[in-house]
Amino acid sequence: MRIVVIGSVAAGTSAAAKARRNDESAEIVIYEKDRDISYSGCGLPYYIGGVVKERAKLTPRDEAFFKQRYNIDVFTGHSVADIDTASKTLSIVNMATGEQFEDRYDKLLIATGAHPIMPPIPGIDKPNVFPLRNVAHADAINEFIQQKQPRHAVIIGGGFIGLEMAENLVHRGIAVDLADMAPQVMTPLDPDMAIYVQQYLERNGVKLYLGHAVEELLGDEEVDTVRLAGGIEIETDMVIMAIGIRPEVELAKRAGIALGPTGAIAVDTRMQTNVPDIYAAGDCAEAFSVINGKPLYRPLGSTANKMGRIAGDQMTGGDLEFRGILGTGIFKTFDMAVAQTGLSEKEAKAQGYDVVVCHNIKYDHADYYPDSAEMVIKAVADKTTHKILGAQIVGPRGVDKRIDVFVTAITFGAKAEDLFHLDLAYAPPFSTAKDPVMYTGMILE
Ligand code: FAD
Repeated sequence: MRIVVIGSVAAGTSAAAKARRNDESAEIVIYEKDRDISYSGCGLPYYIGGVVKERAKLTPRDEAFFKQRYNIDVFTGHSVADIDTASKTLSIVNMATGEQFEDRYDKLLIATGAHPIMPPIPGIDKPNVFPLRNVAHADAINEFIQQKQPRHAVIIGGGFIGLEMAENLVHRGIAVDLADMAPQVMTPLDPDMAIYVQQYLERNGVKLYLGHAVEELLGDEEVDTVRLAGGIEIETDMVIMAIGIRPEVELAKRAGIALGPTGAIAVDTRMQTNVPDIYAAGDCAEAFSVINGKPLYRPLGSTANKMGRIAGDQMTGGDLEFRGILGTGIFKTFDMAVAQTGLSEKEAKAQGYDVVVCHNIKYDHADYYPDSAEMVIKAVADKTTHKILGAQIVGPRGVDKRIDVFVTAITFGAKAEDLFHLDLAYAPPFSTAKDPVMYTGMILE
C-alpha cells in the first residue's frame, strides 16, 4: 500500500507517524512545498521575542529523522500541483529544478493547512510588512529587527497571534500600536470579557485602534505610515499582518473534493472526504461542535494533531474516530492568560439558545498564600437543560487549569449544578477550598 501525505507540519506528520506505527510495510511519502517540516508554529512568537533562544528547538525534526525513525520519505520543496482522483495519481513540481513528475497513491491525506489572509490593500507587498505563519516568516521578522532595529510596529489584527506578537515585540524593545476593524480584540470572546484584555494591553503600553480598518500602507521603499479608516495615520517602522487565516483548499477544490459550509474541506468522523481513499486533516479540514454537531472551523495545532492521528489510523485500517471540538483555545499576552471553550454568550444566543450567564471574580489560590491573583470567569449555560455551553477566563494565574475543567465538564455533558460537586484538588498554594469553577456552578444553578 502506498500512502501519500500532502503537507508536513502538524496534521501531516502526525498522520504519517501513526500510519507507520499501525503498518510496518506501507510505503509512506510526504510532499511539502516549503523548507521546514514538523515545526512548532505555536512557538514562533516566542522565538521572535527572544523567550525561545534556539530556533532548532522549534524545528527538531528533519527529513533524515523521518527516514531513520519511521522509514517515511519526506520531499521538501515539492508542491503537489494536481490530484487526479480517477487514476489516483498526483502531479508534483520540484520547486528547485522546475521538474514535474507523477506519483500514485492508494490512500491520500490532504494536510495543506491554511494561509494568512493578506488583503489587497495598497502597500501590503512592501518589504517591512510581515505575515506570521511559518518559520520562514519568523526568520524574516527576526532578520528585519536585527538589521533595521525598528522602534515601532503596527500590528493589524487583534486575534491571538496579534496579541502574542504585541507582547513579544515589546520584549524586543519595540513600541506597539494595534489596530482591528472590529470594535474589540479577540472577537471570539464576548465584549464584556475582551474589555479586560484591552485594558490590560493598554496598561502595558499597547495603543489600541479598535473599530478602524486598515486602508493603506504608505511609504516609498518601505511602509512608514499606516492609514486607518477615520483618517487616522500612524507612523511606524514595520507592520505585522495578523487578521486571520484561510484554509488552503484550492488543490482539493480543483480535484472535486467537497468543501463544508465553513469553506474548509468537509470530512466525516474518519477524516474521509467525499472522494474515496482521500482524507483531509488539520487546518484545511472542517471540524464540528461537540455541543451541537454543527460544522465548526477553529484551526488550531491541538486539533490538527488529533485529526492527523485519526487520519493516519483510518488510512491503515484503524477505527479511531473524531469526536468534534469545543474550539478551546488559550494564549497569553504579557502576563495575562486568556482562555475560551465552547460557546460565548453571543454565539449561544445567535444559535438560538436561551442562556443563563454568570460572571465570577475569584482568586486562583488562597489569598493569604503568596502570589495569589484574581481571575474573571464568564460561563454560559442553557436555561432549559442547565447544560454548560461555554466558558471564558481572563487572569494571570490558574486559568489553564480552570478552562480544562470546563472543557472536561462540557465534553461529558455536565449541568451547571454538577460543577459544585466536582472533587477538585485543594491546598492553599493551588486553589481555594471551593475552587473558582465550583463557585461558577453555584452562581449558575
Ligand atoms: P500547516 O501548519 O498550515 O501546514 C500545512 C503545510 O502544508 C504547510 O507547510 C504548507 O506549505 C503545506 N502545503 C500546502 N499546500 C501544499 C501543496 N500543494 N503541496 C505541498 N505542500 C503543501 N495552535 C494551538 O493549538 N495553540 C497555539 O498556541 C498556537 N499558536 C500559534 C501561533 C502562531 C504564530 C501560528 C502561526 C499558529 C499557531 N497555532 C496554534 C496554530 C497551529 O500552528 C496550526 O493549527 C497548525 O500548524 C496546523 O497544522 P497543519 O498541519 O494543519 O497545517
